[in-house]
Amino acid sequence: MKDTGAETTRNAFTVDVEEYFQVEAFSGIIERKDWERYPSRIDGQVHRVLRILDGFDIRGTFFILGWLAEKNPSLVKRIAEAGHEIASHGFDHKMISRMTPEEFRQDVRRSKAVLEEISGGTVAGYRAPTFSIRENTSWAHEILLHEGYGYSSSVYPIWHDRYGWPEFGDRPRRIASNGTGDLWEVPLAVRSLGPVKIPFGGGGYFRSYPLFLTKAFFRDRAARGKASVFYMHPWELDTELPVVDAPFLTRTRHYLGIPKAERKLASLLPSLRFGTLAQVLEDLKGAAATPPRPGKDAA
Ligand SMILES: [Zn+2]
Repeated sequence: MKDTGAETTRNAFTVDVEEYFQVEAFSGIIERKDWERYPSRIDGQVHRVLRILDGFDIRGTFFILGWLAEKNPSLVKRIAEAGHEIASHGFDHKMISRMTPEEFRQDVRRSKAVLEEISGGTVAGYRAPTFSIRENTSWAHEILLHEGYGYSSSVYPIWHDRYGWPEFGDRPRRIASNGTGDLWEVPLAVRSLGPVKIPFGGGGYFRSYPLFLTKAFFRDRAARGKASVFYMHPWELDTELPVVDAPFLTRTRHYLGIPKAERKLASLLPSLRFGTLAQVLEDLKGAAATPPRPGKDAA
């Protein structure tokens, strides 16, 4: 087999585990205090994701909401027992811009403690709700390091009405270090075409783009030795999702492409190499530690 980057570069498969009614897009419609009133659908949805990943023998990273873990510890156990990496999606699904640094510290501390208690393992990874680490909330990285996290995957280096930090760039970076370790930021995947950054790493982008385009973007980056981070939510595979009464644009973004999502995923997964985000980070550190071989790696 020809040794191309697309076959050898490991990409990260990640899942943001939350209920369908907890997404930021609905935060003006469904209030935090009303979460309890909505019927839970997460067990069946996660079961579906686990079954698909198992079918392709892929282990991924599950960023789980602390609120949900506390309510449903057996779900966390099920994901961990299937061999996936357990990571934190914060506790209350609040965008970082709506928290003070001290509230953020409590949120990430509490979610890490809950997930470690249930899973029995160490939680190293964090994903901010709605990719809400931007330039004006970048203080969050120092707090994550201090709270014992090793990486974050919370920056979407694009322009968007709700999130995005285009100047961050599309490569993982070591942001901060202290005596006990480092804090890395592994941004979500974009395809750079000159100054234009096209997001493609999952969610609504994956559901709305034709599959061949998503595959081409992954392969383009892999051929340059760049791993890409794929992300999804368990509700994105749920064809019987209750319809929330929301404004047209919000609804369109939320429900678009759900009927075809599982089939697309089943075609994407075997065409590329996927692993956990922790593994992708290890690959990166290993590559940085290996000096380039003359005439082979120079390009
Ligand atoms: Zn989320």
